[in-house]
Amino acid sequence: MNLICKTRSVCPVCLRELPAELTEHPDGIYMEKVCADHGRFETLIWQDDGAGFLQWMTRGGCPPETLPLTEEQLEAQLSGAGFTCDACQSPSSAALMTTNRCNMNCPVCFTRDRQEALHEPSLEECESLLRNYRERAGDDALLEFCGGEPTVREDLPALAQLARNIGFDYIQLNTNGIRLSESVSYCSQLREAGITTVYLGFDGVTDHPYQIKYGRSLLEEKKRAVDNCEAAGLAVVLVVCVIPGENDGELGEIIRYAKANVPTVKGVYLQPISYFGIYPEDIRKRITIPELIRRLADQCGDISEGDFGPCSYEHPQCSFNACYLVDREGTLWSLSEPFSSRCVEGQCAGRIRKVLRNTWMPSRTRMLTIGGMAFQDAWNIDLLRVRRCSIQVIQKDGRLIPLCSKYLSSCGGGKLFPGIG
Ligand code: SF4
Ligand SMILES: [Zn+2]
Repeated sequence: MNLICKTRSVCPVCLRELPAELTEHPDGIYMEKVCADHGRFETLIWQDDGAGFLQWMTRGGCPPETLPLTEEQLEAQLSGAGFTCDACQSPSSAALMTTNRCNMNCPVCFTRDRQEALHEPSLEECESLLRNYRERAGDDALLEFCGGEPTVREDLPALAQLARNIGFDYIQLNTNGIRLSESVSYCSQLREAGITTVYLGFDGVTDHPYQIKYGRSLLEEKKRAVDNCEAAGLAVVLVVCVIPGENDGELGEIIRYAKANVPTVKGVYLQPISYFGIYPEDIRKRITIPELIRRLADQCGDISEGDFGPCSYEHPQCSFNACYLVDREGTLWSLSEPFSSRCVEGQCAGRIRKVLRNTWMPSRTRMLTIGGMAFQDAWNIDLLRVRRCSIQVIQKDGRLIPLCSKYLSSCGGGKLFPGIG
């Protein structure tokens, strides 16, 4: 098989750091690695040929001549960094883990861990973590509230107010939407307190994907949550956990629903299922970025594969994005590539934060972003990607940890970074 580049990964059983190679196979690009104790692992990471992969990498600022082909070249790029150091670039956005309590008990969950002790930092603890994050990341830092389910905290409006008083103007709530579906006045309370954007789990337009992911039907609650956000002036990004064979046929209908709800809905963000946290042991199906783009183009007449590009900030294998205007008839018109245009050295974080503010804050603009992020798990994690992480978690000790390292779990539930916060 053709070697594309060398990198570092981990053993999915013992999480030991391992040398790894990306290689071209007839059906796509694979990561290959060997643990002396647990054997060989081969994982599909990119459903395209070598030429297509290299073209995408080049557009994301990693042309072939920069890809390490020897251990020496790899070491020169990593400069001694490993999975547990916090020497990554400044994030475009960081997540505060507000609680690990949840109002659901889903069979699939990225962030929770069944053995976890209660984690719910007090307002005082949150204040100190947020001030520390802003000091490190700058005045334009973006903030996300994650969980568990943040809305189970009765003091969530007070927490949003606190963050706004510190100076955060973009505050994103990552939620299953159940509490938001129950009351417009609760949504208004959140908006008035400072929440700008609701990052809403929205896995399809039929009940089937909700049965798979949450273990129950939830479509009506999701739609009510969007309606209530609209009434309260909150922006919404629909977040789709894409599970091959379960909801990858619904992408076109999800986009149509999003278009019908512009300008409240600002984006559709696809996250191919990855295997960390809680997931059914009997599935480990993969769908990767180029295949997601093909499905979007196949299922939507006004989307073409060429609309999409990598983000210039995170690693090109991490994400894909396109930006559109939606006309009154509901047709998408592709805009130039705001996520992927080149940035001046050292100003990249600021530029990408500005793009997210412009596209995901409440406004009457009929813009819609469509994109996604391929979170990594113990089978495919790649240290070169982690080093360019843009979404980091604010740990309770104040460190900023790339989300993929923070929640990485082995087959047996072992963690690199124990604890949710
Ligand atoms: S969270 Fe993971 S997939 Fe996203 S930018 Fe960071 S390393 Fe890449
Ligand atoms: Zn091992």
